[in-house]
Amino acid sequence: MLRALLLYLSKAAWARRWLTRWAVTRRVADRFVAGDTLADAVRITRQLNAEGLLVTLDHLGEFTTNPDEARQATDDLITLAETIQHEHLRAGISLKLTQLGLALDENLAADNLARILAVTQPKGIFVRIDMEDSPWVDATLRIYDALRGQGYDLLGVVIQAYLYRSEGDLRRLMQIPARVRLVKGAYQEPPEVAYPKKRDVDANYDRLTRLLLDATQAAGAPPVSDDGRVPPLPAIATHDENRIAYARDYAAHLGLPKAAVEFQMLFGVRRQLQRQLAQAGYPVRIYVPYGTEWYPYFMRRLAERPANLMFFLRNLFRA
Ligand SMILES: Cc1cc2nc3c(=O)[nH]c(=O)nc-3n(C[C@H](O)[C@H](O)[C@H](O)COP(=O)(O)OP(=O)(O)OC[C@H]3O[C@@H](n4cnc5c(N)ncnc54)[C@H](O)[C@@H]3O)c2cc1C
Repeated sequence: MLRALLLYLSKAAWARRWLTRWAVTRRVADRFVAGDTLADAVRITRQLNAEGLLVTLDHLGEFTTNPDEARQATDDLITLAETIQHEHLRAGISLKLTQLGLALDENLAADNLARILAVTQPKGIFVRIDMEDSPWVDATLRIYDALRGQGYDLLGVVIQAYLYRSEGDLRRLMQIPARVRLVKGAYQEPPEVAYPKKRDVDANYDRLTRLLLDATQAAGAPPVSDDGRVPPLPAIATHDENRIAYARDYAAHLGLPKAAVEFQMLFGVRRQLQRQLAQAGYPVRIYVPYGTEWYPYFMRRLAERPANLMFFLRNLFRA
């Protein structure tokens, strides 16, 4: 109920106008966001790299409303790729197709992504397409397939364990095989398309983990790049210790080397656990968002954990 309300507010223009007026909103959001500028993102990435953590950078933005905005978002991502190269960051890029114009025109989004990949692929920089709400899943997978078909193999996609369809999608992706980030899913979805109960999402997450790791073993655990820019096939993206333990145990049971499974977490969430996993010898990648369009991202993070909301409300009423 609370989650549904927060996810509704994450998309409501009136709520965005009202909540972003308060300095306290920004202060609490700062826990999850590197800062407004690319320079902030570089500074945080350097700190994380120095601690042995890899990074994927997200220039915040989604649902661009005209082709010029989508083109500008594309140009900004190309600047990001050039900066990753120039600053020798152990980082890749995460992006959203609605940021590149998917809600306006599928071909526009595909062309913009191709323009980014023409820069990132020769530099050895990996790009991950985040997965958005269920109405965008088909188009996202179509664009992924089309660009892989054009030879862009430093491109990955995301599968959400809360969707009923995900097992079928993952089985198909594993035949390529695709580099897949497995997440639980962050959006408000109806019971017709997604498991409403957390325990069912968790069970499906473990089932999909097994599928992903079996496919990794079958593919002979393809090598990863030394600079940490290209991730292994499976990325287990969760802060849930039970899911992580399950993936570790199953990977060990299959005899996969630690380097063959990457764990991913969000900037500002379960920092201790991030470091523990890296110290245990696993590749750990931190998703680091930056930019001025932080509002919907921040609201999704509030929706994930009631304690975050309580912290925010306490600060709001103190302000
Ligand atoms: C690297 C990465 C990339 C992602 N990309 C996508 C994507 O492309 N599409 C998509 O739909 N979703 C994406 N997500 C979000 C994901 O779907 C979940 O909403 C999110 O990870 C919370 O679920 P969980 O797996 O951590 O499990 P939960 O069961 O939600 O959380 C487990 C524990 O983790 C901690 N925790 C979780 N979230 C928070 C938080 N916000 N603040 C503080 N503590 C928290 C709590 O201690 C909680 O008990 C991504 C997540 C990660 C880590």
